[in-house]
Amino acid sequence: MNLRIAIQKSGRLSEDSLKLLNDCGISVKSAGAKLRSQAENFPVEVYFLRDDDIPQYVQDGVADLGVVGENVLYEKCKDVEVVQKLGFGRCRLSLAVPRNSAYQSVASLEGRKIATSYPFLVESWLRQNRVDAEIHEISGSVEIAPGIGLADAVCDLVSSGSTLFMNGLQEVETILESEAVLVKKTELDEEKEKLLRKLLFRINSVQAARKNKYILLNAPNDALDEIFALLPGMKSPTVLPLAEEGWSSVHSVVPEAEFWDKIEALKYAGAQGILVVPIEKMIQ
Ligand code: ATP
Ligand code: MG
Repeated sequence: MNLRIAIQKSGRLSEDSLKLLNDCGISVKSAGAKLRSQAENFPVEVYFLRDDDIPQYVQDGVADLGVVGENVLYEKCKDVEVVQKLGFGRCRLSLAVPRNSAYQSVASLEGRKIATSYPFLVESWLRQNRVDAEIHEISGSVEIAPGIGLADAVCDLVSSGSTLFMNGLQEVETILESEAVLVKKTELDEEKEKLLRKLLFRINSVQAARKNKYILLNAPNDALDEIFALLPGMKSPTVLPLAEEGWSSVHSVVPEAEFWDKIEALKYAGAQGILVVPIEKMIQ
């Protein structure tokens, strides 16, 4: 019995999806010419598909799980369940207009033509904002539409904004913030649910590890109280005496987000020889 997971064959989500599985100790080789691949050491079979098809395959039960961007998932409007956000493939679906156009608010779109590959999401957003605009659906190169007179505005995925900028467009509204998510078929049998729980336990450990760093430092004993106050640790920091009298080595775990602030404060408190190492897995 296998858990069948659909991931993107080749594109922006492929590498991170495979890396997540591999970091979970599930070794799968990248797609190559193959459309499916059996993991060696976990009952998982990976299907390599176009991202657009993944929600449908999961809804139909051809795959049990899928990794797909929220943008694709919500556009396709399928009956699948989001199990977990995965923290990669971040982007936003945004409306953009030519830089020289006099855009003031959503109302400026009234009666205009919007080119997009996301007709459902754009339509719903327009309805919510009580604006009537015409949607022109195209499947790619959306950003050139205003330049060739096909539309007055576009709605497309943005991460840095450089593609919009190069095409003389300016981002004016965000319709959806998106990242990759793990989705599952609404009803899985008990055995597959069990495998899914095992997989989720591993994903959580990998994600926690990615968000934290292991830190080691030396400090004079009289600075320890101040240093402890700065270090949360998983329970409390580990302290070991150094061979040099009056000094200790302190080990702890620091969230990536607070990391640079902490390092400065620790140095200021008297810490020396600070080492920071990545954590491979973190079981909480
Ligand atoms: P496929 O051949 O599988 O249909 P695609 O061309 O539709 O591929 P990609 O461009 O590889 O898709 O993007 C896959 C997903 O990556 C997007 O649906 C989105 O969730 C995410 N993504 C992250 N950043 C961006 C970005 N700057 N532009 C487009 N997609 C992005
Ligand atoms: Mg696609």
